[in-house]
Amino acid sequence: MALWPTEIKDTRTMPAATEPPRIDAKRILVVEDNELNMKLLNDVLEAHGYDVISTGRGEVAIEWAEQYRPDLILMDLQLPDLSGLEATQRLKANGETRGIPVIAVTAFAMAGDERRALDHGCDAYVAKPIVLREFLNLIADFIGEAPSARPA
Ligand code: MN
Repeated sequence: MALWPTEIKDTRTMPAATEPPRIDAKRILVVEDNELNMKLLNDVLEAHGYDVISTGRGEVAIEWAEQYRPDLILMDLQLPDLSGLEATQRLKANGETRGIPVIAVTAFAMAGDERRALDHGCDAYVAKPIVLREFLNLIADFIGEAPSARPA
């Protein structure tokens, strides 16, 4: 009988996909159904020291907001299952998640969109294409610079 069961993997030898988030890293929930946009956002935010979780579905976002208590939510307004506005409205109607700032992000900016987003409880509104430096500053306004942030 082997002393060490071989089926137990030594995780220390597994390659790390990314640097693990710092224990004090702020957590951001990215809600974005476009895979490329999601990946870009994840990479940028992780590179700036944030702990990122992401989903393309509004229903999942609502669930995860309660479960993982992100410090901030980036909410795409055009989602396949329910709109980002509806998701935000539900988050803000729930005492457990009401306090989490939501930044609405939209690709199809139209007159009145910002007002509508704010009326639905979004705390801020950003139209794509995102200007990265401004976007990071806005995030920092809400939750502060990530502790391991490095200059872009
Ligand atoms: Mn979308």
